[in-house]
Formats: sequence, C-alpha cells, structure tokens
Amino acid sequence: MYDAIVIGARCGGASTAMLLARKGHRVLLVDRAVFPSDIPHGHLIHRGGPARLASWGLLHRVIATGCPAITAMSSDVGEFSLAADDLAVDSVPIAVGPRRMALDRVLVDAAVEAGVELRAGFSVESLTLDGDRVTGIRGGDRRTGTSVTERATLTIGADGRNSHVARTVSAPEYEQEASLTCWYFSYWSDVPGDALELHDRHGRVIFGFPTNDGLFAVFVAWPISELSVVRSDIERQFLAALDGVPPLGRRVRAGRRADRFYGATDLRNFLRKPFGPGWALVGDAGCHKDPYLALGITDAFRDAELLSNAVYEGLSGSRDLDDALAVYERRRNEATMPDYRMNIERARFTPISATERRLRSALHGNAEATRQFFLTIEALAPREVFFGPENMGRLMASVAQPV
Ligand SMILES: Cc1cc2nc3c(=O)[nH]c(=O)nc-3n(C[C@H](O)[C@H](O)[C@H](O)COP(=O)(O)OP(=O)(O)OC[C@H]3O[C@@H](n4cnc5c(N)ncnc54)[C@H](O)[C@@H]3O)c2cc1C
Repeated sequence: MYDAIVIGARCGGASTAMLLARKGHRVLLVDRAVFPSDIPHGHLIHRGGPARLASWGLLHRVIATGCPAITAMSSDVGEFSLAADDLAVDSVPIAVGPRRMALDRVLVDAAVEAGVELRAGFSVESLTLDGDRVTGIRGGDRRTGTSVTERATLTIGADGRNSHVARTVSAPEYEQEASLTCWYFSYWSDVPGDALELHDRHGRVIFGFPTNDGLFAVFVAWPISELSVVRSDIERQFLAALDGVPPLGRRVRAGRRADRFYGATDLRNFLRKPFGPGWALVGDAGCHKDPYLALGITDAFRDAELLSNAVYEGLSGSRDLDDALAVYERRRNEATMPDYRMNIERARFTPISATERRLRSALHGNAEATRQFFLTIEALAPREVFFGPENMGRLMASVAQPV
C-alpha cells in the first residue's frame, strides 16, 4: 500500500512524486515510457520555472545536460523589436530550453534519489475502485503481458492532456475553449542565437531559443483554420512563416535542419476539477492550454508543489485530505487564471491592446526599462514595481498620447 501512486513520470508527475517523497511519503511512479525518452512537446521553461528548478536543487543539473541558460530576449509584434540581455537574478536565468529527453531524465532521477519507486515501461490499464473511491491501479508491461494491481491512498493522474485518470473518474471540465492554433517545430544546427526570440507577425507566432547539442529550436503556430494548408507542405509553410521575419528567415535558412518536423494540432484549452475521492490530477491532466505563452511546464512545476503540499497536509493529519485538495484547486486556479485567459486571447491572435502598444513604444530605445520589463514578465522581478502607478506613469508620459 502506497501513500500515492503517480501515473505519468514527466514534468507534472516526476516533480510531484519527488516532492512527495522528499516529505517522507511512500510513492510509486509509473509511466508506459522508458527514460530517457523524448515526447514531441515543447520545452521552453520560463516565467518562474527556472527559479522553481533552482529551489528544488535541479537547475544546475538541467543546465549540465548541455542546454544553455538563456539570459537574453527579444520580442517583436511588428513595428520594432524590444531586446535586452543580462536577464538573470541571483544566477537564475529567465529561461532554459532543455530537450524533453534531458529534462524528464533529470526529474525522474531526482524522484528516484528522493526514494520514489519507479516502474518505467508500465502501462496503466484501469483504476481499481471501491464504490466511487479510486483505490489504485491495474496495469503492467505490455510486452510481457504481466499485469499487477497496486493500491494507494491517493492515485494521481499526471498522464497528460488525454488523461486516462480524468476520463475514468469523469473529472468535470470548466473554462473550455476549442483548439485555436496548430504548431510545428524542429531543430537547426549552425544557427547563431543565444536569446529567447518571440515574433508575432502576419498571423503567425514564432519562438526560437537555444537548446541541447548546440541546436536552435524553432516553433511556429498558425490559426487552426489554416491547418490543412500548413499540412499540405509543412516545410514550405514553415519557412514562409520565418521569412515573414526576414533576419530570422535568413539565419535559419543558412543553417542545417538537424531533426524532422514535429506537429501538434489537438490543443484544447480546459481546466479540470483536479481531485475527488481517492484521486487527483496535476500538469496537463488538470489544466491544458495552447502552447502560445509556453506555460505548461512551469505551471506543472507550480501545481506539483501545490498538490504535494496539500497531500502532505492531508496524509499527515494536519487537515482533512479533501479540504486540503480543495485548497489545491483554489490556489491553482488563482495562480493560473489570469495567464490562462490571456493565453487564450493571444492564441486567438487578438492584436495587442492600445495600452500595451503604448508601453512597447515607451520601452523602445530605453534599454534599462526594457530589461526591467522582461525580468518582470519572466517573474524574476516583482510585478508591483514595474507595473506600479509610479513607474508606469513615468514610462507612459514619455510617449505621446494617441489622438
Ligand atoms: C507543440 C507544443 C509545444 C509546447 N511548448 C511548450 C513550451 O515551450 N513550454 C512549456 O512550458 N510547455 C510547452 N508545451 C506544453 C508542455 O509540453 C506540457 O504542458 C507538458 O508536457 C505537460 O507535462 P505533463 O507531465 O503534465 O504531461 P506529459 O508531458 O504529457 O506526460 C504524460 C506522461 O504520462 C504517461 N502516461 C499517459 N497515460 C499513461 C498510462 N495509461 N500509463 C502509464 N503512463 C501513462 C505518458 O507516457 C507521458 O510520459 C507545449 C506543448 C505542445 C504540444
């Protein structure tokens, strides 16, 4: 009998299992994948994710896989690009972009070091139930046909957006929004670039950043309505999107594509009620959103912390487990909702507001203010300072009011 069984051993599951084991819980972590292994999802970690990795003692291990710390950034929504470097605080960079093979391996190893029992290559076929209470899992290694039952006080689905756990318990969904974009991405060698580059141009969003093995990762999103055109010739459409930002198009064309194109098109947005009798959800299983703002991994880390704190309170008897899990849902929603809604707005390719446009004009040519802006939106500086009335008043006064 385990305190917790966690299904899914990547950023949501391995982190949750590690944090629970560090608190002294007996945890079984299962995944049908074996590690190290890749998963065709994105892997830019920013907006507070690097700081969370550092607080867990894992940032240096992620960087040691050969993915550079990213301390420079540029953002361009058409007229001009804002750029800044030296974007680190207390040696924590604004971003890192480890390939999932590298990141998930670091997380799984850290979970095992913390005392988690890992079963890789283990596929969960069903949940065991006592009435409506989940009591554990049934599954095993598909290749050998062996099947076992394991029991736990809490079974945690960290099994991704198409979560088997969520389906089995019919976890209610809210704030749903259909897929808004389609994404393709690949990796190039011999493309110079040490910054996180964001471009929102001509109805495409592009982000590029350095990753492991000296490669430069490039992700492009189109409105979902253009999927059939994009699919008809992915490479041509991809390069055409990059050519919409001529300096980037030239740089990438001068390099060499080192991998195939990966795509993702089924990207519904939703939150799910993340707990019920004997079960909980974390990561994409509990909240999935379009990759536009690249929030998934950072949010999974945050929710791993919120969930493991709640489980600890519930299992150590300092609070009723259901009450503690209700706090988990509330804190997750408070933390995620502003970004979740903004992400949907962005993924609709809604033009930025007049206020944002004015702010960008105010920052253009002001290197230190741009640096503070990036540090703030990347969660390395307090929002109330940059976006406080005094600083905003000063900045906005430097640009003419629109007539
Ligand atoms: C195109 C694209 C680009 C993205 N870009 C970024 C980005 O740049 N930055 C960012 O932060 N996020 C990005 N995301 C989102 C990010 O990838 C996800 O938020 C993140 O992977 C969620 O992690 P997770 O651990 O919840 O689930 P997953 O990474 O999906 O892992 C789920 C695991 O569960 C296992 N599993 C599932 N079912 C079972 C079962 N029945 N038995 C055993 N194991 C099971 C799977 O094998 C898998 O290993 C992107 C997503 C996409 C699709």
